[in-house]
Amino acid sequence: VVVIDRKRTFSLGLSNLWVMTGERPHPRIGERDRSALARKGIKYLNERVVAIDPATRRVRTEQRELEGDYLVVALGAELVPQELPGFREAAYNLYEPEGALQIQQALSRFDGGRIVVLVTRLPFKCPAAPYEAALLIEDFLRRRGVRGRSEIALYTPEDQPMPVAGPKVGAKLAAMLRERGIEYFTEQTVLRIDPESRRILFEVEETRYNLLVGVPPHRSPAVVREAGLVDATGWVPVNPETLSTKYEGVYAIGDVVSIRLKNGMFLPKAGVFAEAQARVVATNIAAEIRGEPTTARFNGEGYCYLDVGGGRAAKGYGDFYAAPAPRVVLKPPSEQYRREKEEFERTRLEVWL
Ligand SMILES: Cc1cc2nc3c(=O)[nH]c(=O)nc-3n(C[C@H](O)[C@H](O)[C@H](O)COP(=O)(O)OP(=O)(O)OC[C@H]3O[C@@H](n4cnc5c(N)ncnc54)[C@H](O)[C@@H]3O)c2cc1C
Repeated sequence: VVVIDRKRTFSLGLSNLWVMTGERPHPRIGERDRSALARKGIKYLNERVVAIDPATRRVRTEQRELEGDYLVVALGAELVPQELPGFREAAYNLYEPEGALQIQQALSRFDGGRIVVLVTRLPFKCPAAPYEAALLIEDFLRRRGVRGRSEIALYTPEDQPMPVAGPKVGAKLAAMLRERGIEYFTEQTVLRIDPESRRILFEVEETRYNLLVGVPPHRSPAVVREAGLVDATGWVPVNPETLSTKYEGVYAIGDVVSIRLKNGMFLPKAGVFAEAQARVVATNIAAEIRGEPTTARFNGEGYCYLDVGGGRAAKGYGDFYAAPAPRVVLKPPSEQYRREKEEFERTRLEVWL
């Protein structure tokens, strides 16, 4: 088994939120070195993939060429802040660990004004994250005694929070924002940001900011597009239960895939799904090699913990493959769920030690 990843360390995206508030002083705390894979007899190559030929299952990196009996494409979503004029100059990137650290520093200096959390394009991974960011920033400012002279606003192209989870979950999240005095603007497509005048220009309206926290545009990695693996969605179509692609022995999992749900929307891009899909693919490949039946199936079930501040988290979970639409519930925030979220990360990091 060979794993190729250009990034030497592994971490969970949720760590960014704790870095942002300073609860976690530095992103390094949540990082683990991929070289630990060697202890399981897995070869790790810290290299960049430059070409994939799915028909022959060949992968070329900057250093070498490899050929597999099986190929699992798990290259995630590429963040492309450069696609939105002004983003790189004006916004702190919530989706990168370094960006989260910069937000931490900016928030600790913040002495009042308008903070905007901006979702630039759809789709973006972890549909809860910008909402968590707004709630955590509100909590942080209140604890620092500057909430009274601050405004917090969230702008998104979505028509409600986490649309795929349905109107009930969306209404609950929107109420949480309202209760905390966070302004919320839906169906806002940003055209550009002007760092000079600190204004964000949308199709119809515009707004100003003093501190801008952004979720950059996402797209599938170029190497995946060039391999001819994507369809009109821009992402890799797969069998929703086995994650197989149209190429024999080639699977795709995680953020790089698009799975259309019964209601026409797409499965959200989230780590819990990437992980569950990985288990299915690994189990079936191992079974096939042993000459056993390949019976593992991904069932579309998932969950997530939403940080709301004050040491509490809400829990959303459900069946995203349900018909006619995903069945998702959101349980109210508690300290217990927040502890479970920490445990969620701990159990994913300990395997690397
Ligand atoms: C702020 C934030 C909070 C989040 N919170 C949650 C949460 O609470 N729960 C949850 O389930 N999910 C959460 N997520 C989403 C989660 O992080 C992603 O859905 C998950 O990481 C997807 O896994 P993946 O393996 O598909 O992609 P990734 O984790 O992005 O991994 C892709 C890997 O491919 C490598 N790569 C890309 N291109 C190349 C190349 N050309 N050559 C070599 N290597 C390459 C990258 O270095 C990367 O390591 C959150 C994300 C963010 C940003």
